[in-house]
Amino acid sequence: MNAKGVNPLSRINLADLFHTQSYLQLGIITHNPIAALQSMFNQLEQINQKRIHISVLSKSKISSIDPLWQHIAQSSVTELATSLSQQHVANINGCQRMSLNNGQITVDIYQYTDNRTVNDMLADIITPHIRFQHWLLSCDTLSSVNSDHYLQQAIFWQCARLSADHACVSILAMDTPSGVVTHQRVATSDTIEAVHDQDVVPANISKLQLLCRQTGFRFIDELSNDIKHHDNAIELAERQALRQQQLDTYAYNPLPQPNMPPSSVNNSVEEPLTMANRQSIPNHTLNTAQKKIDPNSDTIAIVGGGIASAFLALSLAKRGKKITLYCQDDAIAQGASANKQGAIYPLLTPDNGPLSQFFQQAYLFSRHQIDALLNQGHPISHDFCGVFQTGFDPRSQQRLDKIINAQQWPSNIAVKVNAQQANELTQVDVNKGGFYYPLGGWVCPYELTQAAIKQAMSLTQLELVFNTHVDDVQYIDNQWHVYGSHLSSERKNATQLLGHHSQLVIASGANINQLSQTAALPLTPFRGQVSHIPTQGQLNQLSSVICANGYLTPQHEHSHCVGASYIKHPQDLAFSELEQQQNQQKMAQSFPDSHWPKDIDTHDNQARVGVRMVSRDHFPVMGAMANVAQIQARFEQQRQLPQWQQSPKYWQQNIAPHYQQLYVLGGFGSRGISSAPLVAESLAAMMTGELSPLGMTLQTLLSPNRMWMRKLLKGKAI
Ligand SMILES: Cc1cc2nc3c(=O)[nH]c(=O)nc-3n(C[C@H](O)[C@H](O)[C@H](O)COP(=O)(O)OP(=O)(O)OC[C@H]3O[C@@H](n4cnc5c(N)ncnc54)[C@H](O)[C@@H]3O)c2cc1C
Repeated sequence: MNAKGVNPLSRINLADLFHTQSYLQLGIITHNPIAALQSMFNQLEQINQKRIHISVLSKSKISSIDPLWQHIAQSSVTELATSLSQQHVANINGCQRMSLNNGQITVDIYQYTDNRTVNDMLADIITPHIRFQHWLLSCDTLSSVNSDHYLQQAIFWQCARLSADHACVSILAMDTPSGVVTHQRVATSDTIEAVHDQDVVPANISKLQLLCRQTGFRFIDELSNDIKHHDNAIELAERQALRQQQLDTYAYNPLPQPNMPPSSVNNSVEEPLTMANRQSIPNHTLNTAQKKIDPNSDTIAIVGGGIASAFLALSLAKRGKKITLYCQDDAIAQGASANKQGAIYPLLTPDNGPLSQFFQQAYLFSRHQIDALLNQGHPISHDFCGVFQTGFDPRSQQRLDKIINAQQWPSNIAVKVNAQQANELTQVDVNKGGFYYPLGGWVCPYELTQAAIKQAMSLTQLELVFNTHVDDVQYIDNQWHVYGSHLSSERKNATQLLGHHSQLVIASGANINQLSQTAALPLTPFRGQVSHIPTQGQLNQLSSVICANGYLTPQHEHSHCVGASYIKHPQDLAFSELEQQQNQQKMAQSFPDSHWPKDIDTHDNQARVGVRMVSRDHFPVMGAMANVAQIQARFEQQRQLPQWQQSPKYWQQNIAPHYQQLYVLGGFGSRGISSAPLVAESLAAMMTGELSPLGMTLQTLLSPNRMWMRKLLKGKAI
C-alpha cells in the first residue's frame, strides 16, 4: 500500500486496455458500485472516439437517493461522472442501463433485491458474440468481510463463460477525485460499513490469482508490471462447454445473428449458435422494378415510423449503423405515437415477477432516454410531475391494494399514499388513497418520437422514405428485399422493389402482422380515442397525472388529455362521439365524491384516435421472427413419429425455425412510452452482437415465438 492507502496493484489504465480495440466491454465486480464507477469515470475522458460498455455487478444496492450517489453529483471533477450521477437508479431487480454521450459509454448496473447472488445475476447474462475483454475486482471484494461472497469459483466460471479467450482480470482501486480513499458503504440509513484498502487481505490476492488460473483468465499484476500467462486450453474448453450449456437451455429461442464485420467480433464466434436454416425463397409474382443489387448493402431497414422505430433507429445510430426507415405516412409519429400527452409509469404486479421487473427496468431507461434528449436540446413537451394511480371499482381497488401491500417497493419507483396525501400531490380532491410514481409524469409521444429520429440523424446516415407502404418482403441472396408502393394523394402506385437490406425490422404498430411472415403474431388491435379538453375550473390546479379508469393529464397549453377508450378489433378509426362522452364519464365514475370531473368538457369533439397492439401476456414482442409455417410442419412430422411423447424434448433441444435477419418490434399495448426505448435498445444490441440489457429470461419472455413454444414445450399441439 502507498502512503494514501491506495493499493498500487490497482492502477489499471483504460487507455492501455483500448490500445488495440475501439469497443471495450468491461465487467466490474464490486461491493461498492458507486465508488467503483466513479473511479472508472475519472479516467474515461481519455477515451475519445472509442466506445466502452461497463457492467457493474454487486450484491449491495444503490439508488439515486443513496448519499454516496449524491456525493458524486456534488464532487465530481469530470462532466461524465456528473452526467452519470444524474441518472435515476432504483433498488430494483435486474439490469439498469444508462447510455451516456450518445452511446459512447454504456453502463449496466446489475442488482437484485432478493437473496440472489452475483453468481445468479451473471448466470442470466448471455454474450453470444462480443464478449467481455476485461474484468476488474474492486479491492473491497478482497476484504475479509466480503471475500467469501465474491471470491467464488462459480462466479469466476460465469465470468469466464462471458469472456473472450484472452480476457484479463485485475484489481480496481476506488478513489475520489481528491485522492482520498472512500470505501465507505452506507448499508442502511444509519449504519456505515467502512471498507478500506488496508482491509484487503493479502491471502485473498493469492486466492484471486488461483481463481484466475483455474478459470483460464490472465491476471494483470501491476506491481510487477506483468501479465501472468499459463496454458489455459483446458479452461477454455470448459468455458465453451458452459456456453453451450446455456444455449441448450434456451435452444428453442433463436438468437439474432448479427451482421458485423469479422474484425469487430472479439474471438467470439467460435461456435455455431443457430442451425443456419436458410429459408426457402417464396414464389412471388410482384410487379418489381428491377434494381441492380449491391451485395454489400449493409443498411438496416425499419418498417414503421412510431416511437418503437425511432428509438430503434437511435440505438442503432449510436452503434454506427446505416438505416433506411420506410413509413407509410408523410411524417414521423402519425400512428399510435401521435398523441399530445401520454402517461409514463411502470406496470407493477403483486409478485413483482418478470413482467413487473421488466417494466421497472424499461421505465427507468425511458426516463434516462428522455432526459438525454432534453439535455441535447430537443424540444419535448413533458412534465415529470408524478403519476397518481387509484382503483375505479372494488375489484380494481383490491388489485391495486394487493400490489401496494405485497412488496416493499423502492421509494423512487412507487409509494403508497393516503387520501390526504393524494389530494396534496394532485392538488385536486381525489379523496382516495392509492399509489404514487414519483419519477413518472407525462410526455408528448409525438415530439419524443421526432426528437429520437432527429438525434439518430445527427449520428448516422438515416434515410427516411415517407409516403411508402411496404406490401411485402422477401429474403433473396442474404438480403431482405422490400417491396412497396409510393402513396400519393391521387393514387396508390404499383408495387415495386424499394430496396434491399442486410437486416429488416418490422415495427409497424397496428400493421405489424400484415406481412405474410408476421401474420401469425398473436397480437390484438385495440382502438383508443383520447379526448383533448380545455382547462377550466378545478382542472387548472391538477398537478400530477391521474390514472384510474383511464388517465387525465395536467394541462399543457390550456388543454388536458383524458381517456382513452379500449375497443377490441376496431372497424375504423373515425371519431366517436360516444367514446368522447365515455372518457368523461369514466373519470366521473372513478371519483364519484369529487367535483373536478364535472369540469371535464368533451363537447369540442377534439380527440385523437389510434390503435394499440396488445399481447395476452402484456409483454411486447421483440426478436427474430418465428417461421410459424415451418414450426407447424415440423410439429406435424413429429406427430407421425412413434416417439411422439418425446416431442417437448425435441423442441427444447432444437432452434425453432425462424427467418434469418428478420426481426419484429411491437405489441407495446398502452405502455409504449415506458417500454419501447428499452426493448428497441435490446434489439439493437442483439442485432449488432452487443450485450442486451435484458437477460436471457426476459429475452425469452419477449421472443416472438414464445406463444407457440409454450405449447410445444409442454407437448401440446399448436
Ligand atoms: C389512444 C391511445 C392512448 C395511449 N396512451 C398511452 C400512454 O398514456 N402511455 C403510453 O406509454 N402509451 C400510450 N399509448 C400506447 C402507445 O402510444 C403505443 O404503445 C406506441 O405509440 C406504439 O408505438 P409503435 O411505434 O409500436 O407504433 P405506431 O406509433 O403506431 O407506429 C407505427 C408506424 O408504422 C407505420 N406503418 C404501418 N404499416 C406500415 C407499412 N406497411 N409500411 C410503412 N409504414 C407502416 C405507420 O405509419 C406508423 O407510423 C396509447 C395509445 C393510444 C392509441
